[in-house]
Amino acid sequence: MRRLTADQYVSGVLAHDRLVLSRAITLIESRLPSDRELAGQVLARILPHTGNAVRLGITGVPGVGKSTFIESFGKHLTGLGRRLAVLAIDPSSQRSKGSILGDKTRMETLSVDPQAYIRPSPAGDSLGGVAHRTRETMLLCEAAGFDVILIETVGVGQSETLVHGMVDFFLLLMLAGAGDELQGMKRGIMELADAIAITKADGDNRAAADRARIDYANALHLFPPAPTGWMPPVLTCSATENRGIADLWQIITKHQEQLTRTGHRDRLRQAQNLDWMRNYLRQQLEERFYSQPGIRERLEAVERKVRAGELLPVQAVEALLDNQ
Ligand code: GDP
Repeated sequence: MRRLTADQYVSGVLAHDRLVLSRAITLIESRLPSDRELAGQVLARILPHTGNAVRLGITGVPGVGKSTFIESFGKHLTGLGRRLAVLAIDPSSQRSKGSILGDKTRMETLSVDPQAYIRPSPAGDSLGGVAHRTRETMLLCEAAGFDVILIETVGVGQSETLVHGMVDFFLLLMLAGAGDELQGMKRGIMELADAIAITKADGDNRAAADRARIDYANALHLFPPAPTGWMPPVLTCSATENRGIADLWQIITKHQEQLTRTGHRDRLRQAQNLDWMRNYLRQQLEERFYSQPGIRERLEAVERKVRAGELLPVQAVEALLDNQ
């Protein structure tokens, strides 16, 4: 597809033109150096029009009901006149075998809602690269007038830490009757949550969902309080019966008010921007190092010596870096 000029990208995005927005996102996902340069110009110019959206993260294991929840939650928001962009960080999309999140049949109603915009995560990239591009995509969506950005990820691995590092509010979806989840890896994710919602609280599952709500609320009490003073609530919801969805939006609104009132939102976003910069710097240094001509052969030679005990690892690294 023919590229637009920087002016065309910027004016199209600011005019809320969805087609131009999609093309601008494709541009920032491109790895061609000339595209990167153009993307940089576009991003610099839309920057003054960013930062006004409510930034939300959502995670939960596959099958917890994320897409059904986002459909129901998204329709609630667009019904209130909000404009919602849904972005995904999918750790599995880096592999060629398709993704846990990104198939096209998900969120069928929301995807045709003119007030909503859904964009799957770029495939074939490292998780760090996906995170970087998702942040840039979020800025483009904000400039295109979306006032709620929802970043979705799967509750496996480290992608939720990445998402937590780019949003104001982090929602964890949990299933009832999965008691073991209180232990082990899930604990770490629970510590990131600004709210926990127990999904599928309908029919026969209602009583179990209520019990899980109490269990998780008790577990959260054991964690040290957040610096903002926010106590993460635990609630139950049913996306299919549309219960708990409006309550959750109220909780998010209250959290936003508190963040704004206390000045925590500015501080949070400043810290997130610095983190972004540092992570990007690390990625770029690594990328530059590995893209040097002949680096593979030099690495192999040095690694052979390290294996044979002829060279200490520290000396090996110094040799590799000095030789640049
Ligand atoms: P995801 O993998 O986390 O995106 O989960 P999905 O949204 O695809 O949902 C997984 C399954 O749970 C599907 O069969 C849904 O129909 C079902 N499900 C999702 N939300 C609800 C709910 O609120 N109530 C009930 N009973 N089932 C639900």
